[in-house]
Amino acid sequence: MKKIQMVDLVGQYEEIKEEVNSSFQEILSSAAFVNGPHVKAFQQELEEYLGVKHVIPCANGTDALQICMMGLGLKPGDEVITADFTFAATVEVIALLGLTPVLVDVDPETFNIDPQAVEKAITPKTKAIVPVHLFGQCADMDQLLALAEKHNLYLIEDNAQAIGATHTSADGTKKKAGVLGQVASTSFFPSKNLGCYGDGGAIFTNDDDLAHTLRGIVNHGMYERYHHDVVGVNSRLDSLQAAVLRAKLPKLDQYNEQRRAAARRYNELLANQPDIILPKTGQGCEGVCATCDCHVFHQYTLKITNGKRDGLVQHLQSKGIPCGVYYPIPLHRQKAYLDERYNEADFGVTNQLSDEVISLPMHTELTDDQQSFIAESVLEYINQNP
Ligand SMILES: *Cc1c(COP(=O)(O)O)cnc(C)c1O
Repeated sequence: MKKIQMVDLVGQYEEIKEEVNSSFQEILSSAAFVNGPHVKAFQQELEEYLGVKHVIPCANGTDALQICMMGLGLKPGDEVITADFTFAATVEVIALLGLTPVLVDVDPETFNIDPQAVEKAITPKTKAIVPVHLFGQCADMDQLLALAEKHNLYLIEDNAQAIGATHTSADGTKKKAGVLGQVASTSFFPSKNLGCYGDGGAIFTNDDDLAHTLRGIVNHGMYERYHHDVVGVNSRLDSLQAAVLRAKLPKLDQYNEQRRAAARRYNELLANQPDIILPKTGQGCEGVCATCDCHVFHQYTLKITNGKRDGLVQHLQSKGIPCGVYYPIPLHRQKAYLDERYNEADFGVTNQLSDEVISLPMHTELTDDQQSFIAESVLEYINQNP
């Protein structure tokens, strides 16, 4: 059996090698490293895939989030509500811009931001909500959109983990994750579902004026050469990364289906066991849905109850099985983001999740043998420690 990896980028590269290598050769020969034709072409191809009017490529997913907030004109003192249970990038850029992050609890089953907690946190200073579509499925966008409309707030989707996922609203409308709010950010970090071979990111919006503003911000606030109308940043996707993304985008649905197939297999192998709670989906899909495209399984994340999570992590590591704990410390307890207004009692779910979650290897190259070995090893630990 091949060595198990958390993500297997080499295996995936083998399949797109010819296309990537020939694009790289062409870029090296033309030296069109920045803003070359591949960047423009990728932008258009992604717009078409997502069904969105504007894609603005940029340097990484963290920049993308920051630029969204700059583009919306958020000002120091404005409050931005986001999830306590996410990667730090989300809260980092809020703080970096001098905005006030307001962290709220999440749903115990989907791990996504809890709309009720959001509503409780809204004040007259609140300007935006940033739901993170965590681990590959959309937050409860119907409720969040209603809240945003009711309180006149921006909805900025952090779509770094759910590219390609489909959201179905209560009225049956289907849209891709990332085209539901005013604006969305994504990341093309190598391990994401659509990853390049370095750093990359993008912003999506259907708003023409906002798109124009954002295109200037990513380029030093320039709308006309050497005229700097607003304070901007330098945030570019380079041509080599765009070429990788162009090779992968046509396969994204297939990649996501390979991840779902792996999730289905884990679900079968680990069903009905003590102390193991399988990942659940929201959005009208019943329970552990791994059959429709509401979930793209950026992570396959179990909850391990009765204090057995840390022991399981060690057991898997001792057998050479990589696994991850995303995220071990809730953001409200991180030194950089402490805020005396927070009350521990408001973060019961994140506190518990940080003790219980474990993500198993998940990528497009997992084999049945590998998954059987992983599941056997999980059950071995659970059964030996009643
Ligand atoms: C990866 C990620 C980011 C940041 O993306 P980078 O490209 O690494 O800057 C932001 N938010 C979430 C939820 C992520 O998973």
